[in-house]
Amino acid sequence: LGGSISRAIQQMSNATIIDEKVLNECLNEITRALLQSDVQFKLVRDMQTNIKKIVNLDDLAAGHNKRKIIQQAIFNELCKMLDPGKPSFTPKKGKTSVVMFVGLQGSGKTTTCTKYAYYHQKKGWKPALVCADTFRAGAFDQLKQNATKAKIPFYGSYMESDPVKIAEEGVERFKKENCDLIIVDTSGRHKQEAALFEEMRQVSEATKPDLVIFVMDSSIGQAAFDQAQAFKQSVAVGAVIVTKMDGHAKGGGALSAVAATKSPVIFIGTGEHMDEFEVFDVKPFVSRLLGMGDWSGFMDKIHEVVPMDQQPELLQKLSEGNFTLRIMYEQFQNILKMGPIGQVFSMLPGFSSELMPKGREKESQAKIKRYMTMMDSMTNEELDSSNPKLINESRMMRIARGSGRHIREVMEMMEEYKRLAKIWSKMKGLKIPKKGEMSAL
Ligand code: GDP
Ligand code: MG
Repeated sequence: LGGSISRAIQQMSNATIIDEKVLNECLNEITRALLQSDVQFKLVRDMQTNIKKIVNLDDLAAGHNKRKIIQQAIFNELCKMLDPGKPSFTPKKGKTSVVMFVGLQGSGKTTTCTKYAYYHQKKGWKPALVCADTFRAGAFDQLKQNATKAKIPFYGSYMESDPVKIAEEGVERFKKENCDLIIVDTSGRHKQEAALFEEMRQVSEATKPDLVIFVMDSSIGQAAFDQAQAFKQSVAVGAVIVTKMDGHAKGGGALSAVAATKSPVIFIGTGEHMDEFEVFDVKPFVSRLLGMGDWSGFMDKIHEVVPMDQQPELLQKLSEGNFTLRIMYEQFQNILKMGPIGQVFSMLPGFSSELMPKGREKESQAKIKRYMTMMDSMTNEELDSSNPKLINESRMMRIARGSGRHIREVMEMMEEYKRLAKIWSKMKGLKIPKKGEMSAL
C-alpha cells in the first residue's frame, strides 16, 4: 500500500500542472491501493468523494501550492476516517475499572492483555489478569506465564470449564483486592461462531466491563470490517487495538475496524514482547499508510533520544541531505552513547538491519569504533566532503596506515558510508518539525 500511494503522490508531485485529470489519476491510484490494503470499499469511495469536494480545482488554479493542498486533503481525510468523533472510556488510576478483551483466536488478545497490564503497572497502577478462555487448551498456562513474568496477579482455573463463572469470580476477587485495572481475557474460538458471540455476551453481562477492547491482527485482510462488526453486535466494543504492526501489514484494516465499531484505536502491538506496545497516534499511522511513516516515526525517535541541544543541528543537517563522513562520525558517537543503534536507526529501512543486526550489537559496536578510528585519520577536507570519490586509493592507503588498519577495512567503511548516505539523501527537503508535529508532508 505505502509504495503505491507514495508513488501516486510522487507522480502527482512531478506533474507541473495539477488539473482534474491529474487529480483523478492520483485518486484512482490511491483508491486501488487502499482497497488492496483491505480498507472497505464504501470507506474508500467516501474518501474519494470528500476529497473531490474539498479540493476545489478553481482554487488550485489560482496558484496556491497545489500539491500541498491535495496531499494535505488526502492526509486529513484518512485521519478523519480513524477518528470516530468521541474518545474511548479511559480507566482512572485508583478507581476500579474492568476491561474485557475480545477478538478472534490468534489475534493477539492474551499477549495484548499482558502488554496492557504491564503498560499501566509501569505507571503505578495495580492491574490484574483474569483468564476466561476455557476453550483453548493451554490458555490459562499462557496467561499465567505472561503474568508471572510481569509480576501481575492473575486468576484462572484448570478445572472449571465455565468461562462466565471464572470471569465473575476473578473480577470479584480483584475488586476485593483493590486492583484498579481488572483485565478479562476471553476465548476467540468456539465450535460454533454463534456460541462464541453468546459467550462474549454472557461474560460481559457477568463482569459489567467499563471498556471492551476489540483486538485485531493487522494482517487480517478484507475480513476486518465484518469481524469487528460481529463483535460489536454482541458486546459494547469501545476501543480497538491493532496487533502485529511490526510485520508487513500497514494496518489498513484499522480504518474498517474504527468504522465498524465507531471506536478509536488506542494502542498498537509492535512485537511479541511485553514492551512492544505503543499508544496509537493517528498521524504517524496515516503517514505509514501513505508510505511516509518511516520518516515520521524516525523524527519522533530523534526527539525522544537525541539530546535536546543537539536536535536542531541534526535536523538541519538531515534536511540538507548532505551526509558527510563527519556527520556519520557524529552519529556513530551518538549511537555509542545511546546504546544499541536500534533505538533511532531501526526506524530507517536498511540502517539497523545491516549496520547492527539484532543480537549482534556487541560486534557492531566494535565495528563502529573501528570505523571511528579510521575516520580519526582523515583530514578535515575528507570529513566535510559529501563526495565519496574524493577519497581515492592513495587517500585510503594513507588513512589505513594512519589508523593501523587494512585498506580493505577502509574500503568497507566507505561502502557503509555510501549506503548510509543514500538513505540519508531521501530525507532531503524534509520540513523540520517541532515535537509531535507531522513531518512527512
Ligand atoms: P489470542 O489467541 O488472541 O490470545 O492470541 P495470542 O496472544 O496467543 O497471540 C497469538 C500469536 O501472535 C502469539 O504467537 C503472539 O506472540 C503473537 N503476537 C501477538 N501480538 C503480536 C505483535 O504485536 N507482534 C507480533 N509479531 N506478534 C504478536
Ligand atoms: Mg488467548
